[in-house]
This record gives sequence, structure tokens and C-alpha cells, in this order.
Amino acid sequence: MITYSSVTKIYKKRPVVEDFSLSVTAPIFGFLGANGAGKTTIMKMTVGLLAPTSGTITINGIPSLDKASKQKIGFMPETPYFYERLTGMEFMKFCGELYGQHGNVFNSFAEGLLKKVGIYEARNYEIRTYSKGMRQRLGFAQALVNDPEYLFLDEPLDGLDPIGRRETKDVILSLKKEGKKIFLNTHILYDVEEMCDELGVVHRGHLLYSGPVKKFCDGKSLEERFIETVEEHEKERTSKLNHHA
Ligand code: ADP
Repeated sequence: MITYSSVTKIYKKRPVVEDFSLSVTAPIFGFLGANGAGKTTIMKMTVGLLAPTSGTITINGIPSLDKASKQKIGFMPETPYFYERLTGMEFMKFCGELYGQHGNVFNSFAEGLLKKVGIYEARNYEIRTYSKGMRQRLGFAQALVNDPEYLFLDEPLDGLDPIGRRETKDVILSLKKEGKKIFLNTHILYDVEEMCDELGVVHRGHLLYSGPVKKFCDGKSLEERFIETVEEHEKERTSKLNHHA
């Protein structure tokens, strides 16, 4: 289970995540919010790349900044950074080394991951020759090198063509079948409806809803409910600001 307890992150005196509390057990959990809502900041704090200003995040009860937590998680950033002159397989070996993994057993495991994400045939080509979709797949494969229990994907479907999107979704759903717990950041409503078991609605760093997607929609479309929820929050915020003025 991943648990957030009163998590706040402040950048230059401005809170970008505020008093965020949540416990997640769903197989696929989607953070839904507009650009700038705070989704990436939340994800980076969860995978231990950023420390919260206050509050705690635990992974199976262990703080997210502990080494033991990092063994349990894989992270695919929005725009993964690659060493362009390495081949896909060389890059996988490099990532394995970061976890102290190497040798024949690891190499077969890494080849299996490349097969799983569909770029095994291109494993000996330099990454600079890879298309955006292939890079995305390599991003997935590198996030899986430590065989994590939890997988964090920051906007994994952004900028892909329809075929790339379909294929990426299939990879995500097959990982769910294998028992991985997946966290997904997105601003695309349709992807939440299609893939997520539960969602968290994030707006201006606040969690406005968390729970099953169906419960949130309550018979309406996700778009309608999302806009209603955000507008309600904006109204409250404006009236509070006016009250303080
Ligand atoms: P999202 O992923 O939902 O698009 P982010 O977490 O990237 O949102 O950003 C949330 C807010 O935090 C934005 O207003 C962004 O400008 C701000 N922000 C993100 N990173 C930094 C940083 N390193 N320094 C200052 N502000 C930042």
C-alpha cells in the first residue's frame, strides 16, 4: 500500500502540493489533473526523487526516501533521458548496474523485458535511431529492471500516435495482469475511464477526490464531473480569497 499523510511541497514559498492525504491499493490508480496541477511533483516525491516539505509518504509502511522503498518501485518519467549512442540492450545493462544486477541471468531477464514491451528486435540498434514510441517502450523496460512491485508512469501516453497509444495501453494492462500495481499521471479523461480502477483528482496541489472512477462519475460523464469538481473548488477558493481581502 502507498500512503500519503498530510504531504505538502513548497517551491519558492508557493505550495504546489498541499496537505495531501491518501492511501492506495488499487491495481491501476490514475492521478487526473490539468497541466501544472502537481501530479509530477507528487510522483517524484513518491519515487524518492524529491523530499516533501512536510508530511510523509510510505511504501508498504516504509518511508519513500528509504533505500528499501526504492527497490520496490519503478519510474518512467514524462520524457525519459537516454544515452543516445547506447543500444537498447546496452542501456538496459547500464540500468541493471544501477541496481547491482549484471551477468547472464540479468541479461536474459532484460531481454525478456525488451520482448515484453515489443522492442527486442531493435535491441542492438542505437537509441538515437528509435522512434518516440520505441523510446516509450524502452522507458517502460528500464522502469522494470528491478522487477518492482509498484510502477509509476508520468503521462505515458502523451504525444504517441494512435497505434503507439494502443500498444502502450496493452503493455500497461498486461503488467496489471502480472500483478504490478500501477500509478498513472494523466490529463486525458478517456485514458482514466479505459484503464484506471481508481482515480485521484488533483487541482492546484489539492486532492479533490479519490476512489473508484464509477463512484466519482455517479451516472454522469467523467468530463462533466471533473469540470464540476474543479469549478466547485475554484468557487470556494475565490470566496475564501474575497473573505480574506
Ligand atoms: P503537473 O505534473 O500536474 O503538470 P507539476 O507537478 O509538474 O504539475 O507542477 C506543479 C506546479 O509546480 C506548477 O505550477 C509548476 O510550475 C511548479 N513547479 C514544478 N517544479 C518546480 C520547480 N522545480 N521549481 C518551482 N516550481 C516548480
